[in-house]
Amino acid sequence: MRILVTGGAGFIGSHFVRTTVDADVTVLDSLTYAADLANLEGADHEFVHGDIGDAALLDKLVPGHDLVVNFAAESHVDRSIAGSAEFVRTNVLGTQTLLQACLDAGVPKVVHVSTDEVYGTIDAGSWQEDAPLRPRSPYAAAKAGGDMIAMAYAITHGLPVSITRCGNNFGPHQYPEKVIPLFITNLLQGTKVPLYGDGGNVRDWIHVDDHCRGIRVVAEHGLPGEVYHIAGVAELTNLDLTQRLLDALDADWSMVERVADRKGHDRRYSLDDSRLRGLGYAPRTSFEDGLAETVRWYTDNPSWWKSKRTL
Ligand code: NAD
Repeated sequence: MRILVTGGAGFIGSHFVRTTVDADVTVLDSLTYAADLANLEGADHEFVHGDIGDAALLDKLVPGHDLVVNFAAESHVDRSIAGSAEFVRTNVLGTQTLLQACLDAGVPKVVHVSTDEVYGTIDAGSWQEDAPLRPRSPYAAAKAGGDMIAMAYAITHGLPVSITRCGNNFGPHQYPEKVIPLFITNLLQGTKVPLYGDGGNVRDWIHVDDHCRGIRVVAEHGLPGEVYHIAGVAELTNLDLTQRLLDALDADWSMVERVADRKGHDRRYSLDDSRLRGLGYAPRTSFEDGLAETVRWYTDNPSWWKSKRTL
């Protein structure tokens, strides 16, 4: 079995590579600010430095792989608000270029990794896979564009691509601009943590290992042209999340600084994951255990995150 993992030097892709032991893995990554080759240390793989938007490179690289898993993306909402060109270039055009290369090479299975953010925001209840896409940030809009291209390639060309949509991930090796590693590393340095708006925004948290296990289930059993949700295990307001992080790092609310809300901040995401559970998937890591392990990892690995921090 030969697997091509795009974006495999980032947070989730590298976890997928580190936990794939029964296949020959090729990693394709353009090494943006979010990548770190140290994330792949100890993982058996062949590394190719390149862009999913480089059709000539893909024409040589993709043939011969049995599975392509597309993690490559610009992934941070705040950066997409500051400037969205790179998001459209990679998340839409890059995805299309990769899917075309998979089609040309006759790759038998493709998994395109996406997010709950494509649906927008939901006050109550949970989205099912056929909910309309109503993205509200440039990041989410670019991911929705990639998803729609993937769906169109499945319908029009019969490309055997499945799409996964997951909630907010946490775990080791996550770039310290995302809320959990940002708050942990701030508190480890004795710096206040910035809490957006009223803190009432709700996110559904999943450990990165469960996300990767869900992707594997879809790679093995998912149908072409089908979307699969990978839901979290803990729905928390940002206030609840902050309290848990303060507790874990022995800090109190004097370490919290209220800051202006993110523009267009989605209030709540929630996924119904019955379809994936029907394929035998169930999450294994509780939020409490996963968070404790994550706090330990950042505490033990300051050399990994210190160079990535701007403060
Ligand atoms: P990340 O930002 O940590 O990693 C992205 C990786 O993609 C980096 O290694 C980067 O160098 C690489 N990359 C970016 N542009 C590229 C290009 N044009 N060609 C090749 N490589 C490129 O992101 P992540 O958090 O690991 O997310 C991985 C995927 O999972 C993304 O598609 C994201 O939308 C999706 N996702 C993330 C979350 C989350 O909570 N982090 C939740 C749901 C879905």
